[in-house]
Amino acid sequence: MSMQELNAMAVSLDDEDPLRDYRDRFHMPKQENGEDVVYMTGNSLGLQPKSAAAYIEQELEDWKNLGVEGHFHAKNPWMPYHEFLTEQMAAVIGAKPIETVVMNSLTVNLHLLMVTFYRPDKTRYKIMIEKDAFPSDRYAVVSQISFHRNKGRGDTVFPDLSTQTSDLSTQTSALRPQTSGLSSSAALVELSPRDGETCLRTEDILLEIEKHGDSLALIMLGGVNYYTGQLFDMKAITEAGHKAGAVVGFDLAHAAGNVELSLHDWNVDFAAWCSYKYLNSGPGGVAGIFVHEDHSESFDLPRFAGWWGHEKETRFLMGPDFVPMKGAEGWQLSNPPIFQMAALRASLEIFYEAGMKALADKSAKLTGFLEQVLEEINDDRISIITPGDPGQRGCQLSIRVKDSDRSLFEAITEKGVIADWREPDVIRLAPVPLYNSFHDCLQFGRILSDCLQQRD
Ligand SMILES: *Cc1c(COP(=O)(O)O)cnc(C)c1O
Repeated sequence: MSMQELNAMAVSLDDEDPLRDYRDRFHMPKQENGEDVVYMTGNSLGLQPKSAAAYIEQELEDWKNLGVEGHFHAKNPWMPYHEFLTEQMAAVIGAKPIETVVMNSLTVNLHLLMVTFYRPDKTRYKIMIEKDAFPSDRYAVVSQISFHRNKGRGDTVFPDLSTQTSDLSTQTSALRPQTSGLSSSAALVELSPRDGETCLRTEDILLEIEKHGDSLALIMLGGVNYYTGQLFDMKAITEAGHKAGAVVGFDLAHAAGNVELSLHDWNVDFAAWCSYKYLNSGPGGVAGIFVHEDHSESFDLPRFAGWWGHEKETRFLMGPDFVPMKGAEGWQLSNPPIFQMAALRASLEIFYEAGMKALADKSAKLTGFLEQVLEEINDDRISIITPGDPGQRGCQLSIRVKDSDRSLFEAITEKGVIADWREPDVIRLAPVPLYNSFHDCLQFGRILSDCLQQRD
C-alpha cells in the first residue's frame, strides 16, 4: 500500500470512528508554529481533560468558602471523596467496587500490598518478576526480600544462597545496614526471553512457574511490559500461580485504561497502578489498588495500618485500636488528596462514558494502522519489538532503532512528534484511542519517513 492509499484509509477510518469526538475533550499540546504536536506518549503522561480545571476549581472554591466545613458540606464532600471514584475505577479494571480504591502512588502501594501478600517462610520465599521489569518495581521487590531476610537478625527467615552478600551473623547493630548483592539473591526469579527474542512466551512463563512451584511465594509481573508493550496472559499466569501455591499480583501501570481487564474473574490476588499514564490524572496523580474479594475479610493477614483504613462508622471516635474496613479500602492510610482526585475524576467520567470495550476496539484498529504505516516505510533501520498479535499488546508499539541511533528520535522530536526514547535503543509510541486519530498515526509515519530519507 502506498502512503497515498494509507492517507485515504486514515481519512475514512477517522470518519467512521465512533469515538472521534473525544479528542476535543482533551487539551492537545501545540508546537511553536501553533500546530498540534503528534502526541504519541499517553503511555507516559496522559493529556489533560478540558473538564479537569472545573473539577479542581470546584474544590478550590469550596475550600475558599467553607474551610474545614468542606469535609461535609462541599458540593462533593471531601470526607467520602475517594468513594466518588470507586465505581468508575472498578469498571476500568474489571473489578467489584469493594475490590478497588484510589490512594497514594504506585510504588507506595506496591510496598503496602507486598507487606500483606508477600509472606515468605523457610521453603516458600521466591518472587517472580520480569527480567526487564520497570526499575521501581524491581527496587521494591528486592527491598522487600531484603527486609524479610534481615528480619531474622542473624537467623535468616529463609535461605540466602547468594554468594555476594556479606555474612549477616557478623553484624550486631540493631540497625544493621542492608546487604549488597541482592540482585543475585536466590529469592528473585527473573523471567528472560529466549535468546534472540525480545518478548516472553506464555508457555515459558507457565513452565517457569511450575519449575519453581513449591518455593514460589509471589508472582508480580507488569500486566503490559513498559518497554516492549507486551500484554501478558494474566488469566493463565494467575491460574498457574495459584496451582503452584503462590500469590499473584500485577503492576498495571501500562495496562489500566489501555486494555480490557477482568481482575475479578481472573482471580488475581492484588494489583496496583498509577493514574497519570493512560488514565490522564496529571503528573504525580493518585494511584489505585485492587484486592480480590476473596481477601476482603482476611483480617489475619498483616498490613500497615492508617486511620483512613479504619472502619468508617467509628473512625472519628479516635480509639486506640485499628479495625480495618472490609475490602480494598481497608488498605488506605491517609485522608485523600482532593485536588488530585478531582482531576482523576474528570478523566474517569470520560472513560466511563466511552467504555473500555469501545476504547479497546478502537485501540486495536489504531495500533494496527500504525503498524501498517511502519511496514509501508519498510526500512531496516527500524523494527517493531512489540508482539504482532493484537491479543498480546495494548496500544503501544516499541520500535528498536538500529545501532542505538538516538539522533533519529531527536530528529522526529524536532518535527513535532512527542514520543519517548528508552535506553538502549527503543522509541515507544502509544496512539491512545481517547484522543489520538488515524491521521496522527499517518502524520507520524510521514515525519519518520522524511527523517529516515534525509539520512540516506
Ligand atoms: C510508571 C511506572 C511506575 C512509576 O511508579 P511511581 O511510583 O508512580 O513513580 C512504576 N512501575 C511501572 C511498571 C511503571 O510503568
